[in-house]
Amino acid sequence: MSVVVMKFGGTSVADIEHIRNVAHHVKREVEGGNRVAVVVSAMVGVTNQLVSWVREASVLHDAREYDAVVATGEQVSAGLLAIMLQSMGLQARSWQGWQIPILTSAGHGAARIRSIDGGGLRQRLEDGEVAVITGFQGIEPERQRIATLGRGGSDTSAVAMAIALKADVCDIYTDVDGVYTSDPRIVHKAHRLPKVSYEEMLEMASLGSKVLQTRSVELAMVNRMRVRVLSSFVAPDAMAPVHMDRLEDIGTIVCDEDEIVENQVVSGIAYAKDEAKVTLIKVEDKPGVAARIFGPLAEANINVDMIVQNVTADGKHTDMTFTVQVAELPRTLEALKAAKSDIGNFGVKSSADVAKVSVIGIGMRSHAGAAAMMFRALADKGINILAITTSEIKISVLIDTAYAELAVRTLHSIYGLDAD
Ligand code: ASP
Ligand code: MG
Repeated sequence: MSVVVMKFGGTSVADIEHIRNVAHHVKREVEGGNRVAVVVSAMVGVTNQLVSWVREASVLHDAREYDAVVATGEQVSAGLLAIMLQSMGLQARSWQGWQIPILTSAGHGAARIRSIDGGGLRQRLEDGEVAVITGFQGIEPERQRIATLGRGGSDTSAVAMAIALKADVCDIYTDVDGVYTSDPRIVHKAHRLPKVSYEEMLEMASLGSKVLQTRSVELAMVNRMRVRVLSSFVAPDAMAPVHMDRLEDIGTIVCDEDEIVENQVVSGIAYAKDEAKVTLIKVEDKPGVAARIFGPLAEANINVDMIVQNVTADGKHTDMTFTVQVAELPRTLEALKAAKSDIGNFGVKSSADVAKVSVIGIGMRSHAGAAAMMFRALADKGINILAITTSEIKISVLIDTAYAELAVRTLHSIYGLDAD
């Protein structure tokens, strides 16, 4: 018998029919002898609606009241699922964050979970009750106000609950059946990874493969909680109840790299088209210039991704290229303009027609040559590289958007990821 946390996202609880489907998934686990806690998101679209109502009411609004409003979506889906489970003859009860309680920081709208006492709930699970828990929310103990965890936060709620309940696995049900070697819409030969390490998953998440909220992966990694990504759209009776020896049969397990026996050098190719490139031409080449450029950007809360500084040709000036999110480009240019007197004279060029393509794999730590292979493959296709960054387990290149898909397919194939 295992303790299983099952998390269902917005598309999985989109309406009453979907909630019935979710209830059948839960019933299968209970009948299979598992102890079950369920974490739910709001029905798809609901949180967006709530957020837009808040903004419509007042552009400037109290963060605690924002949370009071946007946390309600999860209350609805949790209550409905509990009702549905009860109607199927299961013992079930809904729980809001404050009732457990899930204690959070005071950072309303993007609060962090501080602690969860899982003891009481665990006892109820042992007694055969299904706990249906609202994702995305907790309570800030100082002022006793509801706090939300930031968009996509239900994943983090689920992992945190799994840790508090000492669960055997945290199953995240979503609308895809696992984590793929690349985006299947672009790479038809992409295949599902049976296992992926926390580190790789973090890189993939930060590169836009938004299967899991990044924070949930960090939390799972620190606590060594096994997370599995699987689809709620598989018929509930076509799946077997969770059995710890057969976790690999379905979905993707996100786990410690030690658990992955056969390491591919590269396990995934990711791409992001929402990058923009900014080049500062002829900035002064002397100490303090980088700080004067990137300081104001940091103050404006603009996330800078890749940075390339060229060697100086005349010993006095250099070119500096960096990337930001496309949506941040106007603010970036403004912040640079405002800092011009500090930075000194320079010219600016910017372009939004760039994409970042990355190869990711923990195997790169122990295998040389992965980068050379990438650059050779791109050169063979006549694709020009505008910037490069690397980490221990990732190589990213910036290229023209027009070549993004060709690059992704080419790399997928040369690293041996194509399914036959
Ligand atoms: N409902 C919240 C949102 O849309 C939390 C979640 O779904 O994870 O951001
Ligand atoms: Mg989500």
